[in-house]
Amino acid sequence: MITNKTDYKKAPKIELHCHLDGSLRPESVLDELKVIESENADLNVDKITELLTVPENCSSLVEYLSCFELPLMVMQTRRSIERFTYEVFQDASEENVKYLELRFAPILHTKLGLSLHEVIESSINGMNRAKADFGIEGGIILCCMKNYSEKAAIDTIKAGEKFIGKGIVGIDLAGPEDEGFAKKFIEAMKLARTLGYNITVHAGEAASGKNVYDAITLLGAQRIGHGIRINDSQNAYDIVKKNNILLEVCPTSNVDTNTIVNINLHPVIDYLKDGIGISINTDNRTVSNTTMTKELNLIDSVFGLDMDSYKKIYYNTVESSFASDEVKCRLKRNFEEYYHEFLGI
Ligand SMILES: [Zn+2]
Repeated sequence: MITNKTDYKKAPKIELHCHLDGSLRPESVLDELKVIESENADLNVDKITELLTVPENCSSLVEYLSCFELPLMVMQTRRSIERFTYEVFQDASEENVKYLELRFAPILHTKLGLSLHEVIESSINGMNRAKADFGIEGGIILCCMKNYSEKAAIDTIKAGEKFIGKGIVGIDLAGPEDEGFAKKFIEAMKLARTLGYNITVHAGEAASGKNVYDAITLLGAQRIGHGIRINDSQNAYDIVKKNNILLEVCPTSNVDTNTIVNINLHPVIDYLKDGIGISINTDNRTVSNTTMTKELNLIDSVFGLDMDSYKKIYYNTVESSFASDEVKCRLKRNFEEYYHEFLGI
């Protein structure tokens, strides 16, 4: 076993679960706020940061989600959506994230009249500009909201169809988690699969592991957002393990939403040791005041993440990403180069 102390800033990283609207730079939010609301011009970056970041005593996922109000206010134009998408890809690339799947719910950005098509196109433009400038790779995942109708989900799925393989890599279900939510979205997700989307679903975060089982069996989820509650449902645990379903684990977010009382009690490493596929992610860089480097350092400091375990996580994550085979090859090569340097050979 290799136990050299690792600098995770330097290590190549893959992120599959990051929300655009939870990852905005406070100074850019301030900029955009000045554009739309001049009477708020006396707000400063510190105040904005406070509004965008989850309070220490946050008690639930629902309270956590309140940090998204301000981002949604400033992301209602093509220009601002493109700008913020570009910036998240830039921030990720600066900490050596080689591939990022960034997600957001287009329907939340149509309040001032943009069409779903325009919203989606703007985010792709921002990503493509960042790819060209920084060499990072990635794709956009379109979120449908669990607290909206199935019809709204179908509208998003149809609007993204023409961008599949041209920037859009998958569909997600996000938002507050009720028990048994999957039943509401069976037709929508069937349509998404038929059109050729990859499917990931938030489940087993604020509610039970049974939701994970339903997301896989009823909705065809290939990956699960969070999924940490699979340990309360044997069926969920077994199907995740047997079908090699990757869990997109977001450690700090789980503590922030009070899903996990204390990081020391997080099951992520137990899952890894038992052969469950896991990836490590930020969920929301700004809301949770985190980065991929911080998440990996956190797991390392609490559980001791040796390089062999990290290699396993990295490869599992690449394999379960929605990237093309060609990109997957490049991502594996990135790791091999780093690994040899790390080993000094
Ligand atoms: Zn999420």
